[in-house]
Order: sequence, then structure tokens, then C-alpha cells
Amino acid sequence: MKKNLSLLIAFFFIIACKQPQKIDLLVVNAKVYTVNDSQKEATAFAVNNGKFIAVGNTNTLTNQYSATTVINANKKPIFPGLIDAHCHFLGMGLVAQKIRLEETKSYDEVLEKLVAFQKEKQLPFITGRGWDQNDWEIKEYPTKDKLDLLFPDTPVVIRRVDGHALLANQAAISLAGITINTKAIGGEILKKDGKLTGVFIDKPMELIMSIIPAPSIEETTKALQTAENICFSLGLTTVNEAGLEKHEIELIDSLQKIKQLSMKIYAMASANKENLDYYLNKGIVKTDRLNVCSFKYYGDGSLGSRGAAMKAPYSDKGHHHGALIYSVKNLTETAKRIADSDFQMNTHAIGDSTNYIVLKTYKEALKNKKNRRWKIEHAQIIDPQDFHYFENIIPSVQPTHATSDMYWAKDRVGEHRIKSGYAYKDLLNAYGKIALGTDFPVEKVNPMLTFYAAVARKDLNGFPENGFQTENALTREETLKGMTIWAAYSNFEEEEKGSIEVGKSADFIILDRDIMAINIDDIPNTQVEKTFSNGALVYQKQNTDE
Ligand SMILES: [Zn+2]
Repeated sequence: MKKNLSLLIAFFFIIACKQPQKIDLLVVNAKVYTVNDSQKEATAFAVNNGKFIAVGNTNTLTNQYSATTVINANKKPIFPGLIDAHCHFLGMGLVAQKIRLEETKSYDEVLEKLVAFQKEKQLPFITGRGWDQNDWEIKEYPTKDKLDLLFPDTPVVIRRVDGHALLANQAAISLAGITINTKAIGGEILKKDGKLTGVFIDKPMELIMSIIPAPSIEETTKALQTAENICFSLGLTTVNEAGLEKHEIELIDSLQKIKQLSMKIYAMASANKENLDYYLNKGIVKTDRLNVCSFKYYGDGSLGSRGAAMKAPYSDKGHHHGALIYSVKNLTETAKRIADSDFQMNTHAIGDSTNYIVLKTYKEALKNKKNRRWKIEHAQIIDPQDFHYFENIIPSVQPTHATSDMYWAKDRVGEHRIKSGYAYKDLLNAYGKIALGTDFPVEKVNPMLTFYAAVARKDLNGFPENGFQTENALTREETLKGMTIWAAYSNFEEEEKGSIEVGKSADFIILDRDIMAINIDDIPNTQVEKTFSNGALVYQKQNTDE
């Protein structure tokens, strides 16, 4: 006992006499939500060489460390840097340089915007995205007639908001060599009165998309940097990019290496033959900021364009089931190839039929394989009897899809099937974790809208007053985990990010209000004051008093 006591005294003596350790950054007086279950809250943390080295209380850490930079957070809430578990980062950057047609209220408004846009840009080929006939008074697909009158010679290709349908004018159609006799496989080419309407749905879109001139390296670089600025300003420090080509991944890697890009990117390689051959041979690519350990496969289309494959026909289109994009054989073979490697397979699945087929295929391919963390992207409409298949498969969902689609999704699938649609709580219960994202630019980038949609199940109009199918709302704690540690887990990155914890990368954000405590309807107003990646300040709100 005596010996123990003297040891204890010696220990305190050492602590008391120790010179404060010199470090890079000390954050004090904060309300830190660590998202670490063994130490949920703290008021301070220390950062050195880009990593958290201590998490605790302000007094202790102030005595222990002498930092080059000290931030007094003035009781503001601090969270781990947010992760978007499914988005199109490069696509968003490119879209930012194209015509945006979101929130147009009619086809005429789309045409007006196109004319104004072209007057300014004088492009040889006009492309854009964002229209949604469900937002229009006449909720029908447009036809290209007026577009042909306005743009007789300049090709125009504008994609629907979900990217699963497009409208092309005759100049583009002619350039692609498409005629009334062209066969539509894996989707539809719409016709009316024996003529093409210009609308292409799902796979046949490729016939048109393939003639769009590819952006140059300079344009792609600018797009990535634009996307990065937008994401940092909204508190995202990692993005899961849902489908890239090899040359795009390599450009990202090279820009990160020369410090022209600092966003951390979990890049899913599109599961085409070229990428499969290349990456399965090369193996997982992992750097400080890039993680290529997965393939993105497309199961079906979207619910909005009725491309999603349903077990029973659509409720608002008789005999129409939607379709798988590729054959079951292709799916099975691809799954088997990936299962034989260390890579993950992340499959876009919206309809209940697609979800069932993909889940069954995964199960077969992963027989006797452990901890592979394969994902279903969207997991939108699930047959109630199929939820149990998620026992071993991670659901990666986008809560703002629920609040965007709720206006018309019931028309598509009916009263009964909608009940197990956008069923995030059921999915969470099935797997035990859920990864949250946005699918931007399909939805807005702002993760606070994801948070709001997940917990309140309401859109920015506060609609519906009592929330949409709130039995599937997530708690704030679950939502926060879905945007941080569970998303990191879904990427095999939970050892390096997703919580404010000693040894992890110092990715964190300071918010202007406490999303864990404020009135639920105040959540969408939340702004990011500062964003840090690897301990470095990458965004600061203007007029932040410091
Ligand atoms: Zn997507």
C-alpha cells in the first residue's frame, strides 16, 4: 500500500512538473459531440500533425498543451466532419457549369432558360440537367417540337433531375444516328404519332450521351475544385462518389497529390468491363485522401421515370414493371468476380424487384465470406418480407429523396407498397447501421437538409405538418451516426475518421447552432462556421466573429 502511494505521488509530481507539450491546434470551450460511444461529450481537443491526440475538458488540455493555434469555440457545437455516403461529386461540379433546370414550373420555362443561357454562353453543344415533369402543371414528358424550332442546328441534351431520362432535340438525335427504327434495350425511346418525342429513358440514353463532347482536363479540374468549395462550406469532409471512370479517379489522385484538391474521396469505380479488369488486377487504391475499394453497379432506373423494376406493375401505369438495366446473368457474374477480390460491390437498387434480386445475388456471391460490407445504394422500395436480407448488407440511403418523392411516389407504387418505401428505420433495424447521403446533384448538397429530412421527414416547406411516414424517422443520434461513423464504417474507414477520437484524422466542423438540441424545424437554418480537414482550416464563414 505504501509503495503504491509513493508511486501515485511520483506520478502526480511528473504530471505537475511536465512542460506543456507543443502542438498545432487546441480547441477549447466547445460542446463537442464526439460520436464516440465510450466518450460521448467533451469540451476540448488537441490536434497535432493532422490527428486528434487528446479529447477531454478545457482545463486539463489547456494545462497539458501549448498550441500554435488556439480556438475558443465559445460553447458552439462541434461535430466530426460529415460524410456524404452517396453523391456525384464530379457530376455536381460539372453541373455547376451547365444549365440548371431544377424547380422549373413548366416546359415553357425550361425553353426560356435555354434561350437565355445560350445567348450568354454561345456553346456548340448545350447540355444541362434538372427538369422534372412532376413539378409541372402538365405532368407529362415533353416533346422536342418547340426545342427543334428554337435550336434547329445546335444539339441540345437536357437530363431529367434524377438522371434517368433525357430530352434531346433533333440535331442531337441526328448526330447520334438515331431513327424511329432504333431499338430500345433496357429502357425506352418514347414515340408519339409515329415520331420520336426526343425523350430517352434509362439505357437508351447512352446512345445520346455518347455524342456529348467530353469535358477537357481543365474543365474537369475546375469542376472538382468547384465541388470541393461547395462541400467544405457545407461541412462535408468526405464524399462517397457513386461511380467514376479510371481516368477521372486518376485525375483526382494526381490533383490530391499536388495539393490542388483536398477533399477526401471514397471513389466507387463504375462496374464496367474496363474498370473491373483494371482495378481487380491492380487491387485496392488507398491514400490519405483517396479510397478506391468498391465498384458501383446499376440495378435499375428511378421511380420518377418508372424505370425502377417492381415485382408488381406500377400503380399509375398498367402492365408496366420497369426493368433491370443489365441481365441477372451479368449481375451474378459481376458479383462473383468482385466477391473473389477484396473489393465491395455497391449496387443502385430502387424497385422492390431489383432490391430482392440484388440482395439474393449478394447472398449467394458472399456465401462463406465475412465482413465484406457490400452495399445497396438507395434501397428505396422494399417488399416487407425482404428486409431480413439486409442482415449482412449495408443500406446506403438518401433521406431527402423521401421528402422530394413523397408528393408522387404513392401514385407510382400505391397505398400499400409505399408503406415500406423510404423505410430508413426498418433498414437500420435490419442491419444495425445505416449510411446517409444525398445523391447530389439530384438533391441539394446541404447535409443539414439530410439531417432534417431524416429526423422530421419534412421538406423545406415544412410539409407534411406531421412528417411523412414518421414511423421510419431516425433519431438525431442515429442520423448523426449515419452521416459520420456509420458512413465511415460502410467505407472501411471507421478506424481513421467518423468520430472525434484520439488517433483519427482531425476532420471536424463548428456549427452556429446545436442540431442535437434545437427545435426540429430550425435544423435547416443551421450554418457551418468552420470546416477542418486533417487539422487544417478549409472553410470559414464570412463575418464569423472571432
Ligand atoms: Zn446516385
